Amino acid sequence: MRAAIWWIRRDLRLTDNQALTAAMQAAEDVIPLFILDPYLWNADHVGEKRLAFLSNGLLELDRSLRQRGSRLFLHHGKPEQVLQAVLDETGAEAVFAEEDYSPYARRRDERVASQLSLNLLPGLTVHHPLEIRKSGGGAYTVYTPFMRAWKARPLPKIAHVLPAPDQITTRLSFNSNADTSHLRPQVQIPFEAGEHIAQQKLRSFVDGDDPLVYRYRLLRNRPDLQGTSGLSPYLRFGMLSARQVVVSAIASILETPDAESEQSANIWLDELIWREFYQSILYHFPSVLHHSFREKYRNLKWSNAVRDFAAWKQGQTGYPLVDAGMRQLQETGWIHNRVRMVVASFLTKNLLIDWRWGEKWFMQNLVDGDPASNNGGWQWTAGTGTDAAPY
Ligand code: FAD
Repeated sequence: MRAAIWWIRRDLRLTDNQALTAAMQAAEDVIPLFILDPYLWNADHVGEKRLAFLSNGLLELDRSLRQRGSRLFLHHGKPEQVLQAVLDETGAEAVFAEEDYSPYARRRDERVASQLSLNLLPGLTVHHPLEIRKSGGGAYTVYTPFMRAWKARPLPKIAHVLPAPDQITTRLSFNSNADTSHLRPQVQIPFEAGEHIAQQKLRSFVDGDDPLVYRYRLLRNRPDLQGTSGLSPYLRFGMLSARQVVVSAIASILETPDAESEQSANIWLDELIWREFYQSILYHFPSVLHHSFREKYRNLKWSNAVRDFAAWKQGQTGYPLVDAGMRQLQETGWIHNRVRMVVASFLTKNLLIDWRWGEKWFMQNLVDGDPASNNGGWQWTAGTGTDAAPY
């Protein structure tokens, strides 16, 4: 094949990118394209902080591509129309992309695939949600059996992690209607974006003489310390592959110096599997985005007091830990897991406010806001999911 489009969505990386690799294997020329989809490129859905992080990540990806003889193309419009226009103009024959599981992404990809040659590659999770199913074929709805089935599958190894290509051939060009001035990096956030910093953060968590991963069991309960990896924004936008992070967790377990370290690294792996569990829940039960997973909680009578909700959002409830968390969210776009659980619990169980209000506020403010993990976090903390939230 002469040319193919690498359609970038939430895989802003060159290392261990199965979609990019497949495009490079199939075609002589690869066109890296990010589509500014008006539906998603809207701060109401995405939130300014996440848009800023994504924008910075795209700028960084463009720099990395240019170092390898390529570049990033941006184009504004509906994906199916943009892709068709780029294929027509460049003569490229196929599109390669990492599969995404959100209901919007799946509807979009079905539309695109009905029109042109779309090749979807794995990468968002280590195991695809269709691979982890009960013996009868149904999806798991409880974490522990899901985790056991997940671990029983062949685990990825370091050799599976694809290196970033040294060179990417991009000779073709087209008349794009957008450039980097259309990105929105205006809002200040304390997260540097991009693959380079993501790799550094992973290394600093798992490598060295006394890596944090070996103290995770205790440190993860300390919101006052930096005892967790801080990788969630990078996993959200695929600046780091889930496979590479899981491989690092497994390597930490195998190389463990003592029982405490081994337990810690295992707990970290389990958290990464919680991420895969929530992706699987969203894949198999997309309606969780609109109502409670457990049917008996769908008609709960919430108080939904608007003043209480406003106080919660602004960090003015009078409860110091709740308020600290909510102010941190507004300031930085990130909250520690324990504090997420506290503020979510407080909103739903103390203030009796519908978890969907909190979920929406989180999505508008979190840099790592992910429909699957956020929905899962809320439902499992509020008790409308099927089992207990991660502890
Ligand atoms: P670490 O503790 O270092 O864990 C490593 C990675 O594992 C994380 O980066 C994340 O990808 C994954 N992970 C860890 N804990 C969880 C968990 N409980 N559920 C799912 N994945 C997990 N996480 C998001 O990525 N996006 C969200 O929108 C999101 N919303 C949440 C909402 C609520 C109400 C709650 C309770 C949790 C939410 N989480 C969400 C999960 C979790 O709080 C964050 O992933 C974690 O705090 C990120 O910090 P870290 O990267 O240092 O995690």
